[in-house]
Amino acid sequence: MTRIFEDDLRSGFGTRAIHAGQRPDPVSGAIMTPIYQTSTYVQDALGQHKGYEYARGKNPTREALERNVASLEGGRHGFAFGSGMGCLDSIMKLFRAGDHVVCGENVYGGTFRLFDKLLQHLGLRFSYVDTRDPQRIADAMTPETRAVLVETPTNPLMWLTDLRAAADVAHRGNALLIVDNTFATPYFQRPLELGADIVWHSATKYLNGHSDMVGGIAVLNDDDLATRLQFILNAAGAVPGPFDSWLVLRGTKTLHLRMRQHDANGRRVAAWLAQRMGEDRVYYPGLESHPQYALAKSQMSGFGGMISVELGTKARAAHVLERVRVFSLAESLGGVESLISLPALMTHASVPADKKDAMGMGEGLIRLSCGVEDTEDLLADLEHAFDGLPG
Ligand SMILES: *Cc1c(COP(=O)(O)O)cnc(C)c1O
Repeated sequence: MTRIFEDDLRSGFGTRAIHAGQRPDPVSGAIMTPIYQTSTYVQDALGQHKGYEYARGKNPTREALERNVASLEGGRHGFAFGSGMGCLDSIMKLFRAGDHVVCGENVYGGTFRLFDKLLQHLGLRFSYVDTRDPQRIADAMTPETRAVLVETPTNPLMWLTDLRAAADVAHRGNALLIVDNTFATPYFQRPLELGADIVWHSATKYLNGHSDMVGGIAVLNDDDLATRLQFILNAAGAVPGPFDSWLVLRGTKTLHLRMRQHDANGRRVAAWLAQRMGEDRVYYPGLESHPQYALAKSQMSGFGGMISVELGTKARAAHVLERVRVFSLAESLGGVESLISLPALMTHASVPADKKDAMGMGEGLIRLSCGVEDTEDLLADLEHAFDGLPG
């Protein structure tokens, strides 16, 4: 747990992205936070140390990252982990056998796998509901419900959850609202300000932004909850190394600049796709035809670079996936380079086929992560890839 520097809350987002949580190195004045590549810290005398004892519990590079992202999310405490899933697994250790969690139906495939294949067997209970409708969350709540977990926009269907309404429902039932903010990033959406209790990320994606590490991070406000999560972080130990922490810290310095370009490319590519395929086949919250466009505008300040398109069949999807040259066929998202994938067979392979069918995530659905390349090159690439699309 690392508490933010209070004065870091005063400046604008871009200034905080670059400076928050970091101070010149006291030894040398180095402007960049050093990579404290150490497992332990020498004590002056028995019990006399500088606040650092062993690197599972605390590392100064990791702390700088935790303060930085906490400040961007508008929260007080940050916790960095070795992956997004490691982060969620540690968050879930706040609960115990018998506790019930209401979870969005279309969450990241790995989130569902963690719950369904592991945590369920340890006695946690889950209900999966379509959280686009807050009433469905309310209907799924039981006296044992301790958390409501949502992702918005969702991966890959781009469904939105009204965070203010979800927070209301969760809090009325004395449950925590936990939000996966990986897709929107704090630049476009700050769940804590809308009532969420814990916000978390796969830092692997936009926060790092350069596709060169795997990490996770959680941010929250409540001091007691922070103490409990810090205990779990140290006791369970799913922590990131100092070099990976440093890579994310380098990444967040340009988060605001990257997100503006992801968003600009996302809007242009979504518009092109809508014209080519028809509006109803393109899932992007920034399109006026998105059924939740009004909600998107009220809780997000931009829409980013994630778009899904329904091509109808696997053969048509394969045609596009195999013809792209600027977009690369790969899992993951949120890097500077554009990626394209087929969620049903890749990221969401572990979700049962009947569930995928019911949600409309078939083998003809492709997902684009628009990077920060020149817009014209992305459009030309799609023009070429969609050419001769089989009927
Ligand atoms: C990738 C991803 C995760 C998992 O994070 P890892 O860093 O891969 O462990 C969780 N949620 C979303 C939305 C993701 O895209």
